Amino acid sequence: MVTKLITIDQAGSERKLRTVAAALVQGALVGMPTETVYGLAGNALLPDTVRRIFAVKGRPQDNPLIIHLYDQSQLDQVSELVPPEFYLLYREFCPGPLTMVMTRSQALPSEVSAGLDTVAIRFPAQRTARNLLRLAGVPVVAPSGNLSGSPSPTQAQHMLDDLDGKIEYILDDGPCALGVESTVLDLTASPPQILRPGVITAELILERTGLTVREAPSAVLTKASRAVPPAESQTEDSSQSGSVIFTPRSPGQKYRHYAPQAPIFIARGKDRRELITSLLSRIELEADRRLGFFGAEDTFDALQKSLSEMNGLQSADFVTYLYPGSEQVETATHELFAALRKLDAAGVELILTPAFPRQGFGIAYMDRLERAAESEEK
Ligand code: AMP
Ligand code: MG
Repeated sequence: MVTKLITIDQAGSERKLRTVAAALVQGALVGMPTETVYGLAGNALLPDTVRRIFAVKGRPQDNPLIIHLYDQSQLDQVSELVPPEFYLLYREFCPGPLTMVMTRSQALPSEVSAGLDTVAIRFPAQRTARNLLRLAGVPVVAPSGNLSGSPSPTQAQHMLDDLDGKIEYILDDGPCALGVESTVLDLTASPPQILRPGVITAELILERTGLTVREAPSAVLTKASRAVPPAESQTEDSSQSGSVIFTPRSPGQKYRHYAPQAPIFIARGKDRRELITSLLSRIELEADRRLGFFGAEDTFDALQKSLSEMNGLQSADFVTYLYPGSEQVETATHELFAALRKLDAAGVELILTPAFPRQGFGIAYMDRLERAAESEEK
């Protein structure tokens, strides 16, 4: 199969999108830009299409998919019981990077929800996603458009790198505005529970709607819970073999995620000096490995200066992915997945990068970074 890469122009390319939307309705798989990451979109009403999405991503069968809708008029196609909180949250945050979990419609193929009796629903804000969803008119499943386990795609090229020749279309509408996946909020829990942190935080939800929701369990906690499921629960036939004995609320959170080939060292410190000290002490241990650095130019300059003042430590071997100025969590979030992919492609053996405080964007950022770093940080 030849994957068609379609560049979206200033005017939005409505005519091209009509063709793609018609193919999507018929069962084609489409790389779809959203404000969070690129998604792998397919018609949610076609069981074969849903199964194909799992197959091309290599996604574990027990990790359910998010349904993407144009607006709430489509809700009755996917959910039978819409909780009152939904309308409050919809008014404040939709379209936008908030996914809400509620009771699912029996009319949906069960594969969408990986056998759960709930469904996750989101209304993306990105213009091309909205145009595609409007033109298609059907509920659309769209997991992140990467191969399972690798960093989510934030540019069309990332999807091409992972899925070229396996899907019909990729719509290129430039880099994603945010760079991390949506907040997943379970409305069947009381109080509602964040299952995956995103840029819409518990604090923001409280501030804008008066609703109290529980924070997501930390990456470290969800990692501990992974000791429970047997390894074979990740295999394709686990649902038939009855080996799944562990059903966490958000199955996706139990898998290693966002992971580059190279391990990651997260440097911590309350100010730049401590950060540099943390980086230096790690670099000292790594004389022979090819090192990568992801972070702000200012931090890297300070690091190089310290290195050049110390005997025997060479800074020339670094492969860097830098953004201008000083550490900035919104920018780091925007660049994280692209950086992991670039540094991997350059063949680095260890990625060094600073931590951010866990507030605002920092909550989702540190969740992704710590999951990506799991093989390194015990
Ligand atoms: P991705 O599509 O790669 O962004 O991953 C979707 C995330 O949403 C995964 O972490 C899933 O576990 C989660 N998710 C999807 N549907 C549900 C559901 N019905 N209940 C809980 N979590 C869900
Ligand atoms: Mg994903």
